[in-house]
Amino acid sequence: MSRVRAVVPVLFVFGAVLSFTWSTVKADEYRVLIAASSDFDDRIGVSIELPELTSDTSVFVFPVTVPGTYEEHLWWRLVHNFRAFDASGSPLPTSRSADSQFVIPRQTVRVSYRLDDSFDDLDSRVNIFQPAGTSFQGDTVFVLNHGGVVGYVDGKQTRPYTVRVERSPEIATFTALQVLERGYDFDVYTAPTYDALVDGPALLCRADTATYQSGGAQILVAVCGTPNGKPLAPAFAKGFKRATDAVADFLPSMPVNRYTFLVYLWDKDTVNVKRTKYSVGALEHNTSSMYFLFYSTHPKGYEEIAAHEFLHILVPLHLHSKEIGRFNFRFPAMSKHLWLYEGVTEYFANQAGLRGRTSTEKDFLQAIQRGARSAAFVPDTFSLTSFSKNVLLHDNQKIYPVIYQIGPANALLLDILLRSETNEKMGVLELVYGLMGKYGKAAPFDDDSLFADIGTLTTPTVQSYLETYVGGAHSLPFAQYLPLIGWEFADSTQDSALGFGIHIDRDASVADTIYLIADSTNVFGFKTGDILMKVNGRTINEASLWNARRLWRATTTDPLTVTVQRDGHVIEKTAKPTNRLVMQYNVIKESASPTESQLKFRKLVLYGIRE
Ligand SMILES: [Zn+2]
Repeated sequence: MSRVRAVVPVLFVFGAVLSFTWSTVKADEYRVLIAASSDFDDRIGVSIELPELTSDTSVFVFPVTVPGTYEEHLWWRLVHNFRAFDASGSPLPTSRSADSQFVIPRQTVRVSYRLDDSFDDLDSRVNIFQPAGTSFQGDTVFVLNHGGVVGYVDGKQTRPYTVRVERSPEIATFTALQVLERGYDFDVYTAPTYDALVDGPALLCRADTATYQSGGAQILVAVCGTPNGKPLAPAFAKGFKRATDAVADFLPSMPVNRYTFLVYLWDKDTVNVKRTKYSVGALEHNTSSMYFLFYSTHPKGYEEIAAHEFLHILVPLHLHSKEIGRFNFRFPAMSKHLWLYEGVTEYFANQAGLRGRTSTEKDFLQAIQRGARSAAFVPDTFSLTSFSKNVLLHDNQKIYPVIYQIGPANALLLDILLRSETNEKMGVLELVYGLMGKYGKAAPFDDDSLFADIGTLTTPTVQSYLETYVGGAHSLPFAQYLPLIGWEFADSTQDSALGFGIHIDRDASVADTIYLIADSTNVFGFKTGDILMKVNGRTINEASLWNARRLWRATTTDPLTVTVQRDGHVIEKTAKPTNRLVMQYNVIKESASPTESQLKFRKLVLYGIRE
């Protein structure tokens, strides 16, 4: 008996049937059976035959988190009725480990359990980022991120998986994993390790797909969740193509020859999803990415996300530290280098958009401006590496989006420094390729020696920049580097702008209690220390603070009705913003009269063009 070697890539081969049979799978592998039907309790059933167990007891692990999300999931919370069976099918006793995982005896050959999905998980302690999440909808739509569906025996994370999904004949399975068989009402796919299984999510729904070519790569777009069954994949494919074409032009060569965009559309009217702070977005994988987007008949706004996810193929997917390369799903350790994985990736997406003309130089400057502004508001002790290492802590989760703002701003400064230090030859993109040449997908770097490695590839000045501004808590040196590309920088400016004279006291505010800082000239007559309750009738708490943003960043002269609480009394006032002097921090502007050499250098850094 040998493992089936002939495999059909899922792309473009829907309905192909090979001579695969379940019994050809070897005994030291996992054999997973997923019943994709959640008829009576909104749960699905999963059964897993295990590789042979070698110690008296083993721990069956569901991930604490999965790579790329930088937040806690605690997937074991959604597991119910977990049972273990011996070879004769008799149930065996199980228990829970101190960290809530499932302890099974040596005789276990199979485990089974029922699973809740994460999209409507109401546990207030945990917000699972939907692109990493799960959804089970009757027998019509399934989002299977395998970290939330399948577990592994601790110590046996590198054994192969064969997964059989039993589904309604009305729907199909879309995944970048290798599909062994497509049946009338089931599909079988495989992954060489648990990590690879988690790296290959699957979407199940009525087929809505489109394909296209980009830079020589074959791309499949699969869309699930359209409420009226009208196909949307061709519309999505147009935007994805703009994004991947821009990336193909940006990179020296396309890093993959096939890729799958998996899109779940949330129809707010009909599908129950717990709304979280940063729910819309996507998660990157080696040959696919999973999107959670609002349903719209005219999809837009996803191209920038797509470019970002696709560019993740470089970092962290092909260049990462040992914390990621040997991911510990049970006791995850975070890497120090989110500035590289997320910051540089977002910077590359900005650069690719600029070079592919899907965005403008003004957009690019504004992205860097957002980073500079965020850098002005993080705590004095903030350093990119310690933020990254401790990203799962509550204080860092609260400000998590800063990595997408400060990260690209730091990457631009590093790009400018690299170009000036290497006689214009090397920018951040060339540095990343240099590091990919030294390390790679199967050869992770040491978190602690990355800066020294970069120093060896570049110059001591570059290493010292990284140690000071990325590893240390020093403010980014915008004033030193931006003038080299003809941009001006000011620590603070006073401008006339619309405002209500109200700010949020972010240090004092917690959860449901949002304190205000009120200028003496504020239009409502509020006082510092008032507690914000509602804006235009909507209740505001820490999670929904974004809905109150017009209060401190007025963009129109429209009035706002604001409700506060003071000494137990509720006060409601309506007022229009007025023109007032507003302090702006870390302000970036294009020079009015840049020199020839500044413009030349800007062209080099932003567009990679040497003259
Ligand atoms: Zn990302």
